[in-house]
Amino acid sequence: GTTTVVDPLRISVIGTGYLGATHAVCMAELGFEVIGVDVDPGKIKRLTAGEVPFFEPGLEELLRKNLESGRLSFTTSLADAASAADVHFVCVGTPQHPESNSADMRYVDAAVSGLIAGGLRPGSLVVGKSTVPAGTAARLAAWLSEQAPGVELAWNPEFLREGFAVDDTLRPDRLVFGVAPGGNAEATLHRVYASVIAAGTPVVTVDYPTAELVKVAANAFLATKISFINAMAEVCEVTGADVTHLSKAISYDTRIGGRFLHAGLGFGGGCLPKDIRAFQARATELGAGQAVAFLAEVDAINLRRRTRTVTLATEALGGDVTGKKVAVLGAAFKPNSDDIRDSPALAVADTLRKAGATVAVYDPAAIPNAQRAYPEIIYADNAVDAATGAHIVLHLTEWTEFRELAPNALTAVVAARTIIDGRNTLNPAQWRAAGWTYHALGRP
Ligand code: NAD
Repeated sequence: GTTTVVDPLRISVIGTGYLGATHAVCMAELGFEVIGVDVDPGKIKRLTAGEVPFFEPGLEELLRKNLESGRLSFTTSLADAASAADVHFVCVGTPQHPESNSADMRYVDAAVSGLIAGGLRPGSLVVGKSTVPAGTAARLAAWLSEQAPGVELAWNPEFLREGFAVDDTLRPDRLVFGVAPGGNAEATLHRVYASVIAAGTPVVTVDYPTAELVKVAANAFLATKISFINAMAEVCEVTGADVTHLSKAISYDTRIGGRFLHAGLGFGGGCLPKDIRAFQARATELGAGQAVAFLAEVDAINLRRRTRTVTLATEALGGDVTGKKVAVLGAAFKPNSDDIRDSPALAVADTLRKAGATVAVYDPAAIPNAQRAYPEIIYADNAVDAATGAHIVLHLTEWTEFRELAPNALTAVVAARTIIDGRNTLNPAQWRAAGWTYHALGRP
């Protein structure tokens, strides 16, 4: 391929998971020369071959285009990236610590120490994108100023949504630049994002702790909105009210709005659950635990929806699931993704399996990941196979394919016509008309 670089700034992206692979591809798409780095040789091999190692609509096409242009390459050598690039985006994972609610910072620290060891060039910029506890940027900046004088640090949190990652990266709602006073970091970030900013994207330039907090505050708000409507669903269940109508009615108030106001099985994934926990842990360390104590309740409301679904299923099966066959539609934590991190669907499926049910799961994209994490569950090639012989069907991830599923496609194969709609996206009238007993969360 021929290289057409719009700006001679060379970019490295450390960590090529959901965030980093998308970011590397999009930076190349903007016209930069980009090198993506990961410690996982399997991922690097697949990316180099033009294969996205996860499900993300539109990403593979752009990956191939930019590999062919010669602007994009991948390596397992952090040292190569450290010396080759001017701007280094840190996109490694910050999962929940195995022994606490805090974020596990070992990957971020390893990435920065690897960059230092690899010989960062003076004048280069390290840009954190991972979601981190407040205080991380200041700590890393102090470390860099000692070990790599002349290297600056910025924090540029990421807000992309899996399933919309390319669009969210190239056309984000806003850019947040967390920088230290003085220095060139802000100007460099404006150069990196020049075309995105020119397209009208607002930029908010702030100090380090504000940048770090913007990300966790946004996720805390979204989690709270979901748990709010799920708390209303709990009250609906004891009053006989219908949360789907309630949510629609309050959403017409433009101060409230309808986004993230759908009652159901609640949130999961690699971000919201661990981010609200890490936020509480960090705020507590800093003496502001009370300010975000409500997030413990947000978390608890969310997890109670999983318990409620298991209870509903158990009751529908006559109080004992032993020997019963359960079909689960959905494994990904949300549709248009193969991500199963903290998936509510798989949590429910596995709880029922442990209680003695035979559980068969179908998902359009997430089965390989689910199989690795929950090998004891049975996996089916389609919804009909999963439902064959089932005493109950659970709809737990709202893929369009399931919304469009005709009840009659399953009627002939199931052992009993009972369905629980854990996402409130099926049409109850349609299922009931087909002779099914339809249960849902938050509605009679
Ligand atoms: P991920 O687990 O998919 O990817 C992380 C990658 O980093 C993995 O491929 C891993 O092998 C690699 N890695 C770990 N240590 C490394 C090292 N020392 N050097 C090089 N590579 C290393 O995680 P993700 O979903 O991409 O999330 C990354 C960060 O972005 C997290 O902080 C997350 O909270 C944040 N974030 C994620 C999303 C999202 O939708 N996934 C959105 C916004 C922010």
